[in-house]
Amino acid sequence: MTTSADLFATAQGLMPGGVNSPVRAFGSVGGVPPFMVSGEGPRLRDADGNTYVDLVCSWGPLLLGHAHPGVLEAVHAAVDRGLSFGASTPAEAQLAELVQQRVPAVERIRMVSTGTEATMTAIRLARGFTGRDLVVKFAGCYHGHEDALLVAAGSGLATLSLPGSAGVPAGTVADTVVLPYNDLSAVEELFAERGERIAAIITEAAPANMGVVEPGEGFNAGLRRITAEHGALLILDEVLTGFRVHPAGYWGLSALDEAGTAAWTPDLFTFGKVIGGGLPTAALGGRADVMEFLAPLGPVYQAGTLSGNPVAMAAGVATLQYADGVVYDTIDGLSRQLQAELRSALDAAGVDHTIQHAGNLFSVAFGTSRTGVHDYAQAQAQEAFRYPPFFHAMLDAGVYLPPSVYEAWFLSAAHDDAAMETVIAALPAAAEAAAA
Ligand code: PLP
Repeated sequence: MTTSADLFATAQGLMPGGVNSPVRAFGSVGGVPPFMVSGEGPRLRDADGNTYVDLVCSWGPLLLGHAHPGVLEAVHAAVDRGLSFGASTPAEAQLAELVQQRVPAVERIRMVSTGTEATMTAIRLARGFTGRDLVVKFAGCYHGHEDALLVAAGSGLATLSLPGSAGVPAGTVADTVVLPYNDLSAVEELFAERGERIAAIITEAAPANMGVVEPGEGFNAGLRRITAEHGALLILDEVLTGFRVHPAGYWGLSALDEAGTAAWTPDLFTFGKVIGGGLPTAALGGRADVMEFLAPLGPVYQAGTLSGNPVAMAAGVATLQYADGVVYDTIDGLSRQLQAELRSALDAAGVDHTIQHAGNLFSVAFGTSRTGVHDYAQAQAQEAFRYPPFFHAMLDAGVYLPPSVYEAWFLSAAHDDAAMETVIAALPAAAEAAAA
């Protein structure tokens, strides 16, 4: 049998760190990352024959769990028709319509392949539309690995304690203004000084890359008001939250009333993860007049060989079709249950913590109960050293958590009673390990 240790050793000789995305190398938790060979429902199986209850869910896309029969059937049917045509296909409009039904403010949409591309294009589009250069982002928000957005970016950069990235030209970063999250007065002050030069604010609808941080009451609506007053755009990054916390994303959860009327609406949304159901698809969408600045109608260029790939579209369409109210109610309920169990296990072991949540997304922050975590500085001030022993105790008990304290835990509608029992049974010993 080729073990995960063998596979990792081979991979390290072939790929930087043995991985194709840094957090997979287990740098912040240590140990050999299990190499996964299959997934079914709530579980993953590794090359060593171990099974795990998966609380990563491919970092968000797998709302329905692994290998959902209906999604697989749609994907198989698409595969049988051919993998890529480099031309438009019917499924692109089908996915666009499904998105629009859920998020009517998406008047036009452009499919791309990764969340990074979606936010990168949204920034270019905002600059092209407004004729302005400055972009505002918040410390601890991650929007992918686009140069201008890697400053104070949370996610893998927080995990590896990197302040930004080498290879990003100073000039690129000079046009990015970083502000503390949840601080509307900092935004007001910046716009009072330089509002006429700002193209856009980009913000995670609810940050989940510095651990989960809930936007304060009125924060997102305040960003909408301030940008509108100054002729700047608001880009709501729903790559992680979109179609996961609510049928219409965090915007749907926080801005829509029962009648479907929006209290506020961004100019542009970015989507990823769930929209592709586990295959590489992402999108940006929003106001028609802004979106039509994109080529071929407008002067802002963007393109992609595999954009709108028919197999990826089929996975996205099937995932959204199966993601009905029952799916969201199930995940919400599981999330509440797991948060409560996690809290009581940590309390019983005397581990100071907060459970950070936004909708059904949550994460744990250690040693933070005095202040809570409302911004990146507070997220970074936590007792992060408690997470690796906690993580490994869970892994040993068959639970695959995100290998970083700065990431959200992901559930799916396939997490059944047996899976939840495995997780809950593992918590007390993991809490004891975190206490040590
Ligand atoms: N935006 C947010 C909020 C994300 O969480 C991520 C990835 O985790 C991205 C953008 C980048 O997406 P991708 O990894 O598909 O490039």
